[in-house]
Amino acid sequence: MDQYWVIGNPIAHSKSPLIHRLFAEQTQESLNYAPLLGEEGRFAQQVQEALQGSGKGMNVTLPFKEQAWALAEVRSQAAQAAGAVNTLWRDEQGRLCGDNTDGCGLVTDLIKNHHVMLSGQRVLLLGAGGAARGVVLPLLQAGVAELVIANRTLSKAETLVNDLAPFALNAARLHACAFSDLGEAPFDLIINATSASLQGALPAISTKLVSTHTLCYDMMYAAEPTAFCLWAEAQGGRALDGLGMLIEQAAEAFYIWRGVRPQTASVMQALRQALQNV
Ligand code: NDP
Repeated sequence: MDQYWVIGNPIAHSKSPLIHRLFAEQTQESLNYAPLLGEEGRFAQQVQEALQGSGKGMNVTLPFKEQAWALAEVRSQAAQAAGAVNTLWRDEQGRLCGDNTDGCGLVTDLIKNHHVMLSGQRVLLLGAGGAARGVVLPLLQAGVAELVIANRTLSKAETLVNDLAPFALNAARLHACAFSDLGEAPFDLIINATSASLQGALPAISTKLVSTHTLCYDMMYAAEPTAFCLWAEAQGGRALDGLGMLIEQAAEAFYIWRGVRPQTASVMQALRQALQNV
């Protein structure tokens, strides 16, 4: 039977095995999908050992996405722009291929699941780590009018803008900004790609950036609403968490590997239930 993996460290918490099992059941694809504890210094060897014979594909999570990028012989444009790979497989010539489906997952969740029109929108992206890096190009490709990247450490946002500008169709739409210089005009969409919610903390931005028409999207997800979602709703904005992004990036990986696109609505319900039961 075809074998797939998700590699990371830690890995026991990963929801990917459940998501891909549900996709496989729904599409009647015959496959196994298992977690693999990545070992620093052995990552490349682990990938080469796994992706042979019945080993057909691998998802990659923290802290190995950059190493997976370096290892891939063929990279998608999304992977190239992100500098990180979360999906690996071999092509017909046996070359190791890498894609980054995180940004596609976010954009699909917004457009397909929540009917958000990204085209022409003024968007604020908070954070300049790996998660932020993966979504910049897909947001620009979705036609946002302006994308402001703000980070606690401004220099990292500036580096991100400089790195991504060569990929942008219109780099003038992309700016770096300090939290304190964001002004007072509300954004259409604010995406929290910081890890602040993991500590129950908030990025230090003005409440004036949120109006009743602002959608606030926290990439983090949990059984309870995140600190950022609660803050957004307290300002009168609409709030979404990142569970849909997680499931949609997995659906894109499944499609790359199997050529079959799973439906995600029922998987979303099952995952929401699983989060409540933890
Ligand atoms: P990184 O460690 O690469 O980056 C962390 C970012 O958060 C940095 O920009 C950092 O700023 C910022 N930050 C951390 N604490 C605070 C704080 N208290 N206030 C303001 N900024 C802060 O993490 P990732 O980019 O990999 O992940 C970010 C989040 O995205 C995580 O919550 C992760 O779970 C989530 N995620 C969700 C996915 C999904 O599918 N839903 C996929 C990938 C990630 P500085 O540079 O100043 O340190």
